[in-house]
Amino acid sequence: MRKITLLIVLIWTATSDAFVFYEDTKIWNQETITFYFLDGTAQQKSEVKKFANLWQRYTGIKFIYTDKKPSLFSFKPYYKITFKGSSNQSTKGAVNGTIQLGNLSDNIIFRKMTILHEFGHMLGLGHEHQRTDRPSAFNNQKLIQVCVKNQQQSRAWCKENLSNINNAEVFIESDYDILSIMHYDLKNIAGDEQSILQTLPKLKSNTLSYTDKYYIAMLYNQNISDKTLEQMHKQDLWNQQKFENSENKKTQQAMMNLRTSSCKTLSYGKHSKDGKFCKTGFMIIGTDDFGFPDGEFNTCYNSISQIKEQMNRYKYCQLSKTQLHNKRQNWNQQFAQYGQCKRLEPNDKNRQEFFCEEGYSFVTKNNDMIGEKTVCYSSIDSVFSAMKSNTVCNLDNFEFRKYQRKLEQAEKTQMKTKFCKVVKRKYKTINCPTDFDYTIINLNIQSKPINNKCFASKFQAINAMSEIPFCES
Ligand SMILES: [Zn+2]
Repeated sequence: MRKITLLIVLIWTATSDAFVFYEDTKIWNQETITFYFLDGTAQQKSEVKKFANLWQRYTGIKFIYTDKKPSLFSFKPYYKITFKGSSNQSTKGAVNGTIQLGNLSDNIIFRKMTILHEFGHMLGLGHEHQRTDRPSAFNNQKLIQVCVKNQQQSRAWCKENLSNINNAEVFIESDYDILSIMHYDLKNIAGDEQSILQTLPKLKSNTLSYTDKYYIAMLYNQNISDKTLEQMHKQDLWNQQKFENSENKKTQQAMMNLRTSSCKTLSYGKHSKDGKFCKTGFMIIGTDDFGFPDGEFNTCYNSISQIKEQMNRYKYCQLSKTQLHNKRQNWNQQFAQYGQCKRLEPNDKNRQEFFCEEGYSFVTKNNDMIGEKTVCYSSIDSVFSAMKSNTVCNLDNFEFRKYQRKLEQAEKTQMKTKFCKVVKRKYKTINCPTDFDYTIINLNIQSKPINNKCFASKFQAINAMSEIPFCES
């Protein structure tokens, strides 16, 4: 069915003009289009001119820009461009329309993408993600929720521009093209909730796709041969790669340069001294290279403005170096205990002889290990939050005394098996050094030591006893 529509177009375009392009959209039938800037800075205008140029090359239509209102007597449709308002949108096709660029990103790669996308509407193109043949995963209602949250747009806007399917009669269309500039970047829209996209195909293109170019040329510029188109496209991809690499480098450098006396930026893949890191994006940490014990501050950012805003807003970023140092010591104490528990510093042993070589662990206030094994945490706030959610740490005093008695009972049982026992005694037959008072004895052979080993603590002896098959049988 699609092929048939295509055929009609080819015949019809011989007259001069004619993607997803719907029947009710007007096709441009003029050699130039005038764009009238209603407002905007020199920088904004120059970016529009530079980036929209890509469409010019494939449509063969010349774009003319002006700051003066075009004469009413030209009778040719023209477009207005404004940078005001709160969204990016455009009217469609050859009408007296408006491109609104009111919500441009602070990242130039995304700005380019938006400008190309809105110019696509101007040329008549519809949204690729709203086609009837899009993947069914797009019908997920959650997508509207995340759109409202992450795009700060109304429900109606998200429905109209993202989730609704366009059932209008199609004039010409390619196969569904996830790389099209007219396809929303759903990864960006989903934000932190990438899980809802798991069923969707992977996508990433920040510029016109080959299909965009092929079809727009078919519509407006049949003079370009397929071979030329392919060569132009190859060159474009190379230029785009160069552009993205150099802009990404600049952005990263600018993010790393953001700092206050107490805050700085941590690059992705690098660790703070207390083990915090971002897989992608940048984190705000202290100028002393430690992270902040504030949940809100374990966020990974991707934009300069977000980091700037947080650094300005966050009170711990307004401290002097000395104040930060003092604050650290407070935090250190503040997070050293919780309820019936306390933190152990790296290499500090609990009563059961376990410890963390790197990182922190926690124990009861009597230094007893909690549970079956000792878990190590990379930062004082991660060990603190583990204490906060631990049942034993949250016991009241009465319940904790009961827990403690049970623990003592369990220890007594552990010290004796059917054939062996851990005792604190010195034997003439073994010469135990000072402070190594514990031995394992064989209960059958007149309470004789089972081997010639001495242990510094009863827990070491208990652990050793569990390794002797004879004692356990
Ligand atoms: Zn759009």
